[in-house]
Amino acid sequence: MGGEEFSLISSYKFLKSVLDTMTEHIAVIDQKATIQFINRSWIIFGQNNNLTKTSWKGVNYLKICDESAAMGDELSLIAAEGIRKVIKSEEESFYFEYPCHSPDEKRWFIMRVTPFLLENIPYYVIAHQNITERKIAEEKVFNLSRMDGLTDIPNRRYFDEFLNNEWKRCARLKLPIALAIIDIDHFKLLNDTYGHQAGDECLRKVGALLKNFAHRPGDLYARYGGEEFAIIFANTPINNALEIIHKLLDAIRLLNIPNQESPVMPILTASIGLATLYPDTQTHEKDLIKAADTLLYSAKERGRNQVVYKL
Ligand code: GH3
Ligand code: MG
Ligand code: MG
Repeated sequence: MGGEEFSLISSYKFLKSVLDTMTEHIAVIDQKATIQFINRSWIIFGQNNNLTKTSWKGVNYLKICDESAAMGDELSLIAAEGIRKVIKSEEESFYFEYPCHSPDEKRWFIMRVTPFLLENIPYYVIAHQNITERKIAEEKVFNLSRMDGLTDIPNRRYFDEFLNNEWKRCARLKLPIALAIIDIDHFKLLNDTYGHQAGDECLRKVGALLKNFAHRPGDLYARYGGEEFAIIFANTPINNALEIIHKLLDAIRLLNIPNQESPVMPILTASIGLATLYPDTQTHEKDLIKAADTLLYSAKERGRNQVVYKL
């Protein structure tokens, strides 16, 4: 490498040009959080987000974060705390993923704060990177893994997570949770009579029907397994849940799906176990599932096509 090229490569202009090609938004701050350097992406991002500062240099980055935090922006508060910890050497670096949605698109970023020393003076690189593509892909996988492939309604994994969350919430607030387990009657006969595909179609219809019976934020309907479905009713008195379940049993019969060989009646019916519990430290969500399951078994024994519940 010739001497001229070498001096160019070690020049400020050269390094600035390299940093300006990067898609990460980069700022370098000093120990007082005063901005010493920004790259091109940082300026463009600022312009696109109405941060039209004529000059970023000399601006105190922590002051901007503190001002946003004072206006109630929790993410700015977290960012400011993270930067301060790195400046005080309490943390080696700081990494933070955050949503930054604009009015017309969903966006996520990561912020990384990394210290370095130049001639014994500490500086900190603040880099923001757009990770929206990765987040959208993760969101898709998350949603797909929680939906049942046949009926396109929440699956058992979703059910388990939802029940676990509602269990904790209702325990804190001392609220009851009701659970209905719905099992299609003589479904094997339906499969044997009309074929597996007709059985699948029937499961889709029942799955689609359930959404009319679980509207509230604390409600969730799901395919629990094979020909079993479940509905969680958080913060719902058992009498209200029972009323809904009676309507559901009617609606299932009104689908009028033939099941000619069924000894109950020649159309599709279901049996339901409906249990309720006040979550607390002595009880577990498995107790609620077991109770609903036992009641479902009673409904089968009593001739199917009915709900058995316990107050
Ligand atoms: P019961 O009235 O006692 O509930 O009898 P049942 O025949 O409904 O119950 P059983 O547990 O004996 O049989 C359930 C049947 O559901 C057997 C299984 O092949 C069928 N099944 C489970 N998952 C699917 C599915 O995804 N599609 C179809 N078509 N059938 C399924
Ligand atoms: Mg079953
Ligand atoms: Mg069944």
